[in-house]
Amino acid sequence: MNKKTVRDIDVRNKRVLVRVDLNVPIDAETGNITDETRIRAIVPTIKYLVGNEAKVILCSHLGRPKGQVIEPLRLWPVAERLSRVMGKKVKVTHDCIGHDVSEAVAGMKAGDILLLENLRFHSGEEDNDDAFARSLAGLADIYVNDAFGVAHRAHASTVGVTRYLPAVAGFLLEKEIDMLHRELDVPARPFTAVVGGAKVSDKISLIDHMLDKVDNLLIGGGMVSTFLLASGYEVGKSLIERDKCDLAASLMNKAKKKGINLVLPVDLVVADRFDKNADSKTVSISGIPADWMVMDIGPETIEVFIGKLKSSKTVMWNGPMGVFEFPAFGTGTNRIAETIAAIDATTVISGGSSAEAVERMGLTSKVTHVSTGGGASLKLLEGSILPGLDALLDKD
Ligand code: ADP
Ligand code: MG
Repeated sequence: MNKKTVRDIDVRNKRVLVRVDLNVPIDAETGNITDETRIRAIVPTIKYLVGNEAKVILCSHLGRPKGQVIEPLRLWPVAERLSRVMGKKVKVTHDCIGHDVSEAVAGMKAGDILLLENLRFHSGEEDNDDAFARSLAGLADIYVNDAFGVAHRAHASTVGVTRYLPAVAGFLLEKEIDMLHRELDVPARPFTAVVGGAKVSDKISLIDHMLDKVDNLLIGGGMVSTFLLASGYEVGKSLIERDKCDLAASLMNKAKKKGINLVLPVDLVVADRFDKNADSKTVSISGIPADWMVMDIGPETIEVFIGKLKSSKTVMWNGPMGVFEFPAFGTGTNRIAETIAAIDATTVISGGSSAEAVERMGLTSKVTHVSTGGGASLKLLEGSILPGLDALLDKD
């Protein structure tokens, strides 16, 4: 990565404002944090800063309060969990800027950790308001971005503050960029991308960009129907984007011209309605009944995909193969997850749902990298510049 990191700056006794992504899932009924992946992911940076005697001021958003104080979106339960994970007290303030916050920061000693209240209680955060950014920056001497999940957003805490403070990357941001950029830009070959998820429209740029890099592109998920429709098949009542047929056709053309294997399913699991208890059956792609819908890839397709994966040296997976939230339609996703976890290759998972599927199966430690940022990883893999990364100091 060509950006400075916490290693490149003297943090001793400095007030360091660290943008982290503590937007963790919370059970609406119990208020419990249901997944602490994002909490664990920022520990290396915090430990490094504490170990080097910085005063660590963490800031994050949680949920979508849209510029208002929403009580259930306060960060104190997250601070409690972070304290437990760190084995060290993390204090939390009642707001993220203002007199009381400045006082709390003034009282910090080297090695202390303070978490500021939800940034998005102020509309200035998402508006990238200059006055709000200046207030945040005024709390610190150095800024660290370790929030990969929001690096694709130009907000006050990701871009605005960098106008006022020396700005460097944390270890999580560095790792994400190295894995998603360096590893996939000069991949060990064959390089296979597996792309699924709900819609073609969400993934067009990704597929287009991947066609410049991969040897194999395997397509599953809801977008299969649009590709099949573009190839002249009937897809019944499946989720389709009729206006994206031309784009699907042009992606298939591009693959053909470049000599890349764009692999569509040969069989599918279809259902008579969108329901976990729906009637289902396996059909070939030319046999989708008029009033049924595509819900998963079929057994023959799974074997074809597994064959391609087993001979790959680099794999990128984005988007589930079917409606995996319904167990009856999760087979494709689960088998692909198992295969990716088992092969001897560099394996990178991006996309919120695919990461969830891998995590649910307990396979996270068996893949090279699971990205913590769905939207940000998609942007990066599309070849877009991430404003939160771009704003950091370049390496000399
Ligand atoms: P990711 O978060 O991994 O990038 P997406 O957000 O693009 O993935 O898509 C995830 C959603 O796609 C899941 O909720 C899943 O149910 C849905 N999906 C997958 N296959 C189908 C299908 N055949 N029909 C409808 N929805 C599907
Ligand atoms: Mg998603």
